[in-house]
Amino acid sequence: MDLDYEKIVNELKMAFPPGTVQFQGGGMAYIPNQVYTDRIEQATSSRWNLELRDTDINLSGHYVKAVVRVHIGHYFRDGFGLQKLEAGKALLEDQLSSALDLAVNRAFIHAVDKWQMGWRDLAPYRKNDWGNNPALKHLINNEPGSKDPDQKTLQPALREAHHCIICQNELSSEEWGALGQITKLNRQKMTYCYPHIPDHYKRQLPEKVRKMFEPTWEPK
Ligand SMILES: [Zn+2]
Repeated sequence: MDLDYEKIVNELKMAFPPGTVQFQGGGMAYIPNQVYTDRIEQATSSRWNLELRDTDINLSGHYVKAVVRVHIGHYFRDGFGLQKLEAGKALLEDQLSSALDLAVNRAFIHAVDKWQMGWRDLAPYRKNDWGNNPALKHLINNEPGSKDPDQKTLQPALREAHHCIICQNELSSEEWGALGQITKLNRQKMTYCYPHIPDHYKRQLPEKVRKMFEPTWEPK
């Protein structure tokens, strides 16, 4: 069975549904590896392969490294990932297999990033880095909150509207994403647009997220 590689790559590059982008503790935007896996599964009808090519457990440097190759038909992309080991913590029982898993996940994302997966979604958050580069401007006509008519998602059924329980306005995908960063808030029930998020919840948001909504806000 032949793969239509060009068509597959076009599908890989498509924007993900709103709310896909998550934020790490420090506020760094990322897309979970399961989302990438699911997209590749769908785009290739499961005809892809993840090859673990090398692992390196460096005890003196306290890290593990994984090198992977993601195959789609005759094409492939390589990636590597590192994960820190905690010094002083028992290695085998406690941390080695999970550290390797994490290193492989990172390597996988590093590899599929070369197909420009998730670039459209991440560009608005990487403006200080590559997101504002004129050569990549076509990626960023989807500023947070604006609608890009060319922007297609593979799973329109997952587009779900969320409305603020105070003002009934529909939340932007960034607002919905921000609510997901507040650990003790159930966003399915306590759905707030950004201005209506109660202050004690707002304080739990990563600084970068707050600054995105309140450019003049400074951490105290
Ligand atoms: Zn509101």
